[in-house]
Amino acid sequence: MSTDPPFTSEHEELRSSIRGFIDRELAPHAQRWEQEQWFPDDLFPLMAAQGLLGLKYPESYGGQGGDYLHEAVLCEEMARIGSGGTAAGLGAHINIATPPIWKFGTDEQKQRYLVPAIAGERIGALGITEPGAGSDVAAIATRAERVDGGFLVNGEKTYITNGVRAHFIVTAVKTKIEDPPARHGGISFLIVDRGEGVSSSALHKLGWQASDTATISYQDVFVPEQNLLGELHGGFKLIMANFQWERLAMALGAVGAMRLAWERTAQFARERRTFGRPLGRHQVIAHKLADMATSVYTCRCVTYDALRRFVAGEEPLKEVTMAKLLTQRAAFELMDEALQIHGGAGYMRGDDGPPHPIERAARDARLGPIGGGSDEIMREILAKALDL
Ligand SMILES: Cc1cc2nc3c(=O)[nH]c(=O)nc-3n(C[C@H](O)[C@H](O)[C@H](O)COP(=O)(O)OP(=O)(O)OC[C@H]3O[C@@H](n4cnc5c(N)ncnc54)[C@H](O)[C@@H]3O)c2cc1C
Repeated sequence: MSTDPPFTSEHEELRSSIRGFIDRELAPHAQRWEQEQWFPDDLFPLMAAQGLLGLKYPESYGGQGGDYLHEAVLCEEMARIGSGGTAAGLGAHINIATPPIWKFGTDEQKQRYLVPAIAGERIGALGITEPGAGSDVAAIATRAERVDGGFLVNGEKTYITNGVRAHFIVTAVKTKIEDPPARHGGISFLIVDRGEGVSSSALHKLGWQASDTATISYQDVFVPEQNLLGELHGGFKLIMANFQWERLAMALGAVGAMRLAWERTAQFARERRTFGRPLGRHQVIAHKLADMATSVYTCRCVTYDALRRFVAGEEPLKEVTMAKLLTQRAAFELMDEALQIHGGAGYMRGDDGPPHPIERAARDARLGPIGGGSDEIMREILAKALDL
């Protein structure tokens, strides 16, 4: 096991360029996007112009020809936007909607969807979750019936990031329509264009305010044969194929957010004075900050070890699952402590205050133990992997 950062000086150069871009172009607007519960679609071409929508994708599709380590840098740095929702909307496009097309798409599908997605011209979403099927993915009920030239889709997806704005939705459907319904073996993926029969309604949330989360309804939506992604009835493999990266991306995002919150809270504790001295000179507060720094360090080590293994081509199911499980709860707990150290200031919305208010970071962090496979599901995976 190696807990050294897996990044080279080239990755660190990329980090400082991303950081400069975020500090200049994104972070100053984060408050407004949060209040408006929407960040502008223009962010996609803006990110694309920096090469940030295709870091890990081949140059032949308009990507940067990098790898998962370059993407990992972006995942960490997006915390600096100060809006979990903005990072989530961009991240859903980069880390969950486009990877299945890259891995399983035909060249023609890559030309039609991946190339414009990397260029920021078309926005993607991944539609798996349904009102009746979240953790139990195999229970999805959206049906795709065979018709002349393609499929007819009927059903509903929910909690879908980019669900209102997406131009295309990489959608999990049941293609084996039997009684009783097929489970894992009956799932396929279709790339569904927004168009006739596809309608979205926005959902409102505790955190991730600037992200667009929606219920999407499919009513007699015709999807042509050439939009079948991967093998017919082979969709479960496709879901599993990206879970490891999605969970690593979430762990990296948590590590970035935790580090930022720690730095800001430590600074606050140095400046704020109570009972005649800086807050951080009260032993209770200093010890809290020491515990928080330990948590940031532990989460980084576990995440970097999983990342290193993933990039080396191992199949680090256990390590990635542990990283996701550890970091998401730890991030929320750290934000709660950071909020407590800020006192009343921590509870304020901070519309006119610093660009990364702690209350927002705390609300944003609450999604981590639920999304991308909940804590309970992570423990189920670990229990199996540990042969229990
Ligand atoms: C803001 C947000 C954005 C999202 N974005 C997307 C997206 O872009 N695309 C997408 O497809 N989905 C998305 N999701 C959905 C997300 O992946 C699901 O919410 C998550 O998988 C949990 O499913 P569920 O909400 O249906 O909870 P359920 O599966 O109903 O679970 C409810 C609770 O029971 C627990 N539980 C379930 N089964 C077990 C078990 N066997 N043993 C013990 N405990 C169990 C769960 O851990 C959870 O705590 C998003 C969700 C949110 C909130």
